[in-house]
Amino acid sequence: RIAINSLAEEYLRLAYHGFRAKDKSFNVVLVADLDRDLKEVEVVPQDLGRVLLNLFSNAFYAVQQRQKQEDDDYQPQVSLITRQLADAVEIKVKDNGPGIPAGVRSKIFQPFFTTKPTGMGTGLGLSLSYDIVRKGHGGSLDVNTEEGEFTEFIIRIPIKAGST
Ligand code: ADP
Ligand code: MG
Repeated sequence: RIAINSLAEEYLRLAYHGFRAKDKSFNVVLVADLDRDLKEVEVVPQDLGRVLLNLFSNAFYAVQQRQKQEDDDYQPQVSLITRQLADAVEIKVKDNGPGIPAGVRSKIFQPFFTTKPTGMGTGLGLSLSYDIVRKGHGGSLDVNTEEGEFTEFIIRIPIKAGST
């Protein structure tokens, strides 16, 4: 069983340093709002790590794109939020990027769907993430987004009986 808070924070930092290495002027506020009473759940750490890395990378990319388009008043922000639910652990990855247009939303979990320029994305991240969370962990992966406001991806991993 794995403590999700530290795993998720580790991958938040990994993704952040990846973006900073390529763009030294990338200026993003990181928020970690973690539920300290999170139960440990059974996950495959490398697999959940890949999911988190992809969600964080997508979030950083989104705020970076918006930063390029907006005036100086825009402050990019990426948040990691964890919550203990009655029967699941919830992990949210939220960004204040451009959001996902309505016409695109239904396609984002499809393999090879990407809106990124050649070389920037394979379009496999979310379809792989969807399979890892659902088939690999019996969980769910959902998205909420509002154009010009935010995007958040919500992972829920069920707690099996006997978890502490
Ligand atoms: P890739 O990152 O290689 O494009 P993904 O499967 O990770 O592939 O994402 C698919 C598409 O979903 C992205 O190209 C983008 O259009 C959209 N998307 C994913 N995350 C976000 C986000 N946080 N904000 C806006 N759009 C997003
Ligand atoms: Mg991706």
